Amino acid sequence: MGLLSIILSIIIAILVFLLLKKERVLGIQTETENNNKEVKIIESKDYRKNINKLLDYFPEGVLIIDKNKEILFCNNSSKNFFQIEIGENINSILRNPDLLNSIDQAFEGKNISDLEIEIRNQTIQRLNITVYLDNDLLFFDQLTCVLFIRDLTEFYKFQQLKSDFVANVSHELRTPLQSIKMGLESFDNNSDLKNNSEFKNLLPIMTSQSERMENLIRDLLSLSKIELQEHIRPTHEIDLIELIDYIIKTYDKMISKNNTKLKFNKFDDFKIIGDRDKLIEIFTNLIDNSIKYNDKKDKEIIITAKKENDLNIISVADNGIGIPKESIHRITERFFTVDPSKSRSVGGTGLGLAIVKHLVTQHRAEMLINSIENQGTTIDIKFKAL
Ligand code: ATP
Ligand code: MG
Repeated sequence: MGLLSIILSIIIAILVFLLLKKERVLGIQTETENNNKEVKIIESKDYRKNINKLLDYFPEGVLIIDKNKEILFCNNSSKNFFQIEIGENINSILRNPDLLNSIDQAFEGKNISDLEIEIRNQTIQRLNITVYLDNDLLFFDQLTCVLFIRDLTEFYKFQQLKSDFVANVSHELRTPLQSIKMGLESFDNNSDLKNNSEFKNLLPIMTSQSERMENLIRDLLSLSKIELQEHIRPTHEIDLIELIDYIIKTYDKMISKNNTKLKFNKFDDFKIIGDRDKLIEIFTNLIDNSIKYNDKKDKEIIITAKKENDLNIISVADNGIGIPKESIHRITERFFTVDPSKSRSVGGTGLGLAIVKHLVTQHRAEMLINSIENQGTTIDIKFKAL
């Protein structure tokens, strides 16, 4: 009995010792955890302070806002752009509906493409803004939106200068060209001159060159006008099926004159927000190219309307000469032609697709070019569905 009680008390003593030791160990662990947390918080505060300092040196504007659109951070450049301070609400400073809408969408987790906006303070400023959701809570311990702002005012001033120059020169060239054309027409009606063999050979060349020059001037004027309007979003509701039907009807004679078969695969309910005249210009340019750059006897153009998620896509496909792989990325450059003599012979100036590209951008749409030499070309224009 005595031995049993001794063994029992030893066991109890060991248990008490272990328990006390465990508490001590636990106590130390809790302290370490607390210390780690404190170190982490201090570290993250320092880290964020350093990031914010760094952002102040950025030439681009950086704005960080919370869900209520209250400014949590603004670097020096954004303060200069908008005369704002931390704590203000951007609803009351930047009343641009596109921008406010993009911020709402970013908070809903949607992908936002870059925006270009114009703001009018003492002067007019053109800004490019990228809106991004800080999902990783990199800047604050709450969900925030980060706005990166680039000032494009100087760039657009330069663009305007260039466009004004091109527009003025083209305009000035128009009048003397009209006189030359009138002169050529009267020569053409003069039977004495027409009997002169040298003149007879020269007249068609002079006439076609003056027509080419007229096209060039028309395209240059149109391009400079379009460039200046690229940032203005179209506002009309357009039924693309009705519009393509209209284009096909209008150009029916030209299409059949060129031995071309045109097929249109339609789709119900195909509406977008657009500008009717500019959309007509886009698709007539594409159809015109499909006819011009096709040496086959049986030319074929297939226009297809198709849907992809929230996109309405119109695709223009031909069975023409195609574009060499290395030239595909260049064909929207102004004055670029794959084969200058071929383009010249069909009256091309190399400006058509440059115009199309600007009009597509104005519609916030996308252009995709696929082509195989000697097989044909397909150009997809992807619009946001209404
Ligand atoms: P413009 O349209 O100003 O009258 P263009 O047709 O030469 O002149 P773009 O429409 O800009 O100019 O086309 C640029 C070049 O791309 C063309 O010269 C041609 O080489 C090539 N190209 C365009 N579309 C096609 C096509 N469907 N098939 C083959 N080549 C094409
Ligand atoms: Mg063309």
